[in-house]
Amino acid sequence: MNSISEIAFLAKRAAQNAGFDLCGVAPVADSPELAYFADWIAAGHAGEMKYLEARSETTSAEGNSLKRSSLAHTAPWARSIVVCAINYNTEQPYSTQVHDLRRGWISRYALSGGDYHDSVMRRLRLVEAALRAAASDQDIKPEDLITRCYVDTGPIVERVYAKYAGVGWIGKNTCIINQKKGSWLFLGVILTSLELQPDMPAPDRCGTCTRCITACPTDAFVGPYQLDANKCIAYLTIEKRGAAPEELRAGIGRQVFGCDICQDVCPWNRKAPATPEADFQARPELVNPALDWLAEMSEEEFRLIFRKSALRRTKRSGLRRNAVVAMGNSGNAEFLPVVEKLASDEDEVVAENARWARNELLKGSI
Ligand code: SF4
Ligand code: SF4
Repeated sequence: MNSISEIAFLAKRAAQNAGFDLCGVAPVADSPELAYFADWIAAGHAGEMKYLEARSETTSAEGNSLKRSSLAHTAPWARSIVVCAINYNTEQPYSTQVHDLRRGWISRYALSGGDYHDSVMRRLRLVEAALRAAASDQDIKPEDLITRCYVDTGPIVERVYAKYAGVGWIGKNTCIINQKKGSWLFLGVILTSLELQPDMPAPDRCGTCTRCITACPTDAFVGPYQLDANKCIAYLTIEKRGAAPEELRAGIGRQVFGCDICQDVCPWNRKAPATPEADFQARPELVNPALDWLAEMSEEEFRLIFRKSALRRTKRSGLRRNAVVAMGNSGNAEFLPVVEKLASDEDEVVAENARWARNELLKGSI
């Protein structure tokens, strides 16, 4: 085994020992998917997620490039990317299987109530240490080796490199899908100046299937592999500030944080294994939470319950807004007294959505 193969092999073994389910190496190269990312931003499909539009300070002939569309400016030293993936699926029903009108849905990745960034980064650091040790064994001086670890926060479209590292293909639902593990995967990446032996890209196995596109309740797919975040429930319930656009409220259904529908219907998730990892086990109160509980949650309770959770991102106002919209979509007239009360809530976003919810519930009870 030559040195670039041996270091890659040792990094993968370290990833397995650290608890990752999958690991592969991608070369640093611009690809059609990264070119599409720039087009996607230009088309306005990223909505208010301005961080995705961050641009490099270095000016090239074409102007300042998007940081995420090429590593050439942001990490010119990078030669390889080690992509690690860990399964977060637990034995909970899919959102498409639960029909209790009093309850909402929180996206699977947030059910543990913990911060997955910490769990993934902790493991990634172990792989980074092993990579550096393996390089040192090959007489590469520490000062000649650069490594950077990222979980979601790097100037990089992780799923593109996950594809080229052989971790999985990018499905028509735009998620990374692995043939054996499905798509419930957290990704972590290590950029390195080492030129490691790359893996083969994962072949696309979507075939003629279009289930995800058909199932999307807000028609957020512009086409296969192309998502308009402005219409996606995950964006509307997590990233979007202020009132939900009225024309999309009905499609949001009872999703109160994120949306898993296009993954729930994917045939590759039918037999997705459940993880035994303690960090990712669901907290019972977050699985199908009662909508009136969320809508009337105090600031103190929100802080206490979601102290470390991904749900902090939507803030209490956003979560209450989402719960009110979900009540409006529930068709459950039992919520009328609550939405009536919330229609004059001091939070105008909650109040406006509550007035809409009241009208929806009244329409349903005529
Ligand atoms: S996450 Fe939900 S809303 Fe977004 S594309 Fe998938 S099914 Fe549609
Ligand atoms: S539902 Fe079908 S088309 Fe969509 S990602 Fe899964 S396999 Fe691909």
